[in-house]
Amino acid sequence: MSLAGKKALVTGASRGIGRAVALKLAQEGADVIVTATSFERAKKTADEIIHLGRRALPYQVNVGNLQDIENLFRTITAEFGTLDILVNNAGITRDGLLMRMKDEDWDDVIRVNLTGAFACTREAIKLMAKAKSGRIVNISSVVGEMGNAGQANYCASKAGIIGFTKAVAREYAKRGITVNAVAPGFIETDMTGVLSAGVREELLRQIPVNRFGAVEDIANAVYFLVSDLGSYITGHVLDVNGGMHM
Ligand code: NAP
Repeated sequence: MSLAGKKALVTGASRGIGRAVALKLAQEGADVIVTATSFERAKKTADEIIHLGRRALPYQVNVGNLQDIENLFRTITAEFGTLDILVNNAGITRDGLLMRMKDEDWDDVIRVNLTGAFACTREAIKLMAKAKSGRIVNISSVVGEMGNAGQANYCASKAGIIGFTKAVAREYAKRGITVNAVAPGFIETDMTGVLSAGVREELLRQIPVNRFGAVEDIANAVYFLVSDLGSYITGHVLDVNGGMHM
């Protein structure tokens, strides 16, 4: 297994894309720190990983809370002593048209989606720079590249993730750390489950391969980037969107 012995942190791994990524990394040999806003939900994924024969550490963390992140990394350092892989996946939406967007809807989305990734990366980099190796994958979105009406806050956070990814990739390439983004298209999860049948139909018309994505499509892309196969790729945005945006 190509990730045997590696220690990975996946934020927002209780369900959806994060859970699929955590399970894929574990299947490939990694021990995984699984976070969610609820310990019970994190533990469910952690139990599945333990069932695969790997170590798993469930942890309750709000990535929008800097103190939570400091505590998380203190625990990672104590339990594992190192971190090889970070997947910044936790994300939320608070959709609405710009004129009616509340300050807290803007702040919440930027804080969780963008500041959360910044804070986790800042902590992870300390461990990775010491080890002179590491892999970071940030989950962006197709709408961070193309925009979407009703999602000014979310699109700004996901476009911000792309600039952040490229800056950190340049800063730490010499230290053996690669930093990439994966930009999913429309993936079947709780986040997209709330969309009406009409919106789904309209979205499907925009996807050349004529299907919505599965969480495994994203997990496979993340795995590729964090494995040895991805060692010469950094600062890249990998589109996994069925051709929705080219
Ligand atoms: P999801 O099913 O709604 O799951 C979100 C995950 O993030 C959950 O594990 C949730 O934990 C966690 N989370 C939410 N707020 C958090 C916080 N403040 N601190 C820590 N964890 C938090 O979402 P998804 O569809 O899998 O999306 C995962 C990522 O992919 C997000 O960054 C999203 O923006 C991005 N994305 C998704 C799609 C798509 O079509 N689904 C497309 C493009 C990009 P709890 O269970 O505790 O709430």
